[in-house]
Amino acid sequence: MAETIKGPRGVRDILPEESWKWRYVLEIARKVAEDFGYQEVHLPIFEHTELFSRGIGDTTDVVEKEMYTFIDKGNRSITLRPEGTASMMRSYLEQGMHKSPRQPAKLWCVGPMFRYERPQKGRYRQFWQLDFEAIGAKDPLVDVEIIHLSLEIYRRLGLRNLEVAVNSVGCPQCRPLYREGLRSFLEPRLDKFCPTCQGRYDRNPLRILDCKKEDCKNLSEEAPSVLEHLCKECREHFDMVCRGLEVIGIHYTLDKRLVRGLDYYTKTAYEVLSGDLGAQNAVCGGGRYDNLAESIGGPAVPGVGFAAGVERIVLTMEQQGCSLGEEPRVDVMVICPEPEHRLQAMEFLASLRKEGIGSSMDYTGKSMKSQLKSALQEGASGACILGGDELTRQVVGIKNFRTQEQKEVPLAEAVSYLRNMLGLGNS
Ligand code: ATP
Ligand code: MG
Repeated sequence: MAETIKGPRGVRDILPEESWKWRYVLEIARKVAEDFGYQEVHLPIFEHTELFSRGIGDTTDVVEKEMYTFIDKGNRSITLRPEGTASMMRSYLEQGMHKSPRQPAKLWCVGPMFRYERPQKGRYRQFWQLDFEAIGAKDPLVDVEIIHLSLEIYRRLGLRNLEVAVNSVGCPQCRPLYREGLRSFLEPRLDKFCPTCQGRYDRNPLRILDCKKEDCKNLSEEAPSVLEHLCKECREHFDMVCRGLEVIGIHYTLDKRLVRGLDYYTKTAYEVLSGDLGAQNAVCGGGRYDNLAESIGGPAVPGVGFAAGVERIVLTMEQQGCSLGEEPRVDVMVICPEPEHRLQAMEFLASLRKEGIGSSMDYTGKSMKSQLKSALQEGASGACILGGDELTRQVVGIKNFRTQEQKEVPLAEAVSYLRNMLGLGNS
């Protein structure tokens, strides 16, 4: 016999036990988006490969090693999106949002991203991101708004023990100088760094600062800070971001090593880290990307945004024992002890559902006793017992599991009785 087919490595099934927690997180994110004036968009999950190789940068880990790329039937190179920012910018330009008077465009989306990484806790090959972008304004206060927005989501979710790390990665004016300064620091020590870092020396030495290996981290501890090499414009921008954060009471630390994995960042880069997540400790990352639009062939358009991993948010919330709302339950179970009356039970069930009373019934031929038992196990608030005897008398036996009260109610009054019992008010 053939083996039962399993899902690919590094992907997860989000089952009912977990999906309601996701819904809670997404509902809060949606509310915060509204409160900050961000509008939701739905973008495709695949794009031309070029969007990412040119947008994210082809010396980054994401583009070099992690992309799910394939040739489609029209012989085009297609990639499952590894992140949302490049697509968001593509859409902004393609749909002519840059010509609208409404700047910056404040957009958000949520959905799956795909990266071919080594699967481990908090790191998957398909994972979900909340992605917020403000495109079309240079103002450092938009950076502040973006950082605030991400933290406001976490605050409303009840997350604690978070750290905000901020840095500036400069711009094409000042970064080349810094890069040279960094190379001079690294060169005499280079043979002690890991092979990946050695490979980064020529192509993208800033990424060496981002290496997660303990030895490399220690070696780069004394590396010059980009903050000391910023040009006037980047310096002023960064100072304003810091002042803005202070004004709204956001505590942050400066992390000169924070360069982020994607090439498109300019000026502000930031991450929110959770002390409870272990190695995969970033719950969100983001920053400014004033050159992204040009690198994908558009006009110069500034932008700033962040992406937050939904799995890591839920994991952290579980670890911290945060409330995740309530698991949805069906209100009542319709219990029909006799098989010959199932059609009438179905009719009754339909009448409850039409009135917004969450209800279900057994389809597996269970006994009355075990139907009642599973109704309780599933957390229903009550049961409606509808057998031949009740049908003849045009009544239904309604049991309230909370009060243990049981009452016979005329069928015609069942809906209003149940709405009252469940605290739903009158329809
Ligand atoms: P990391 O350093 O953990 O690899 P990253 O810098 O690659 O993160 P970003 O590209 O900034 O991550 O993505 C933003 C957020 O998306 C991360 O902070 C994290 O919460 C989440 N994330 C990134 N990659 C994964 C993954 N493979 N599985 C689950 N969540 C992820
Ligand atoms: Mg990564």
